[in-house]
Amino acid sequence: MLKKLVLFDIDGTLLRIGSINRQILIDALKEIFGTEGSAGYHDFSGKMDSSIIYEVLSDTDLEQHEVAAKFDAVKQSYIRRFRAETRASDITLMAGVRELLETLAQRTDLLLGILTGNFEASGRHKLKLPGIDHYFSFGAFADDGFHRSDLPPVAIERAFRLTGKKFSGRDIVIIGDTVHDITCAKAVQAHSIAVATGNVALHELRKNHPDTLLENLSRTENVIHSILNP
Ligand SMILES: [Mg+2]
Repeated sequence: MLKKLVLFDIDGTLLRIGSINRQILIDALKEIFGTEGSAGYHDFSGKMDSSIIYEVLSDTDLEQHEVAAKFDAVKQSYIRRFRAETRASDITLMAGVRELLETLAQRTDLLLGILTGNFEASGRHKLKLPGIDHYFSFGAFADDGFHRSDLPPVAIERAFRLTGKKFSGRDIVIIGDTVHDITCAKAVQAHSIAVATGNVALHELRKNHPDTLLENLSRTENVIHSILNP
């Protein structure tokens, strides 16, 4: 019987991607807007691709309505480039992730999903390249909103449509590497598991009081214990 909905962030949590990710966004912005804004140095960690596009262009001459008018064009350019240019060698799975997902997938009491700031098409490609896409039957993505806190309700609804079970509160586990992951878990009273494999140090994550704080996901039994015992 299904007991828990386990939602994984992608970047910094399941895997890391090289500088090509930033370069592709820069190329897409230049193509559509003629400028990359602050995309060369902006901190993307834990943020939504949808809001990143507005943030990096906020200090340019472009008005917000001009960005909005071409938002879909830049999104499509980014996705097209991402699928064409990103290779498996650009992506490194975090330690223990493959073993963890394989073990979690065997369990009938857990439903696995994605909760990420990536657009779905590029996020799915990022998961396909190292061969872990099939573990996730559904997810909530940057296509679904501009703030990470928009995503848990979307994931909960999709899980309901998929299984008929309405997950709430501590039945939901949100695993991620930034403060934004912790905050969006707290917004729905979910169990937050913060993992220090991204750009945010362990002591920084601790300040934001995740329910569980892990150095990494390498000890499968440990992670499963954390998931089952909020
Ligand atoms: Mg992340």
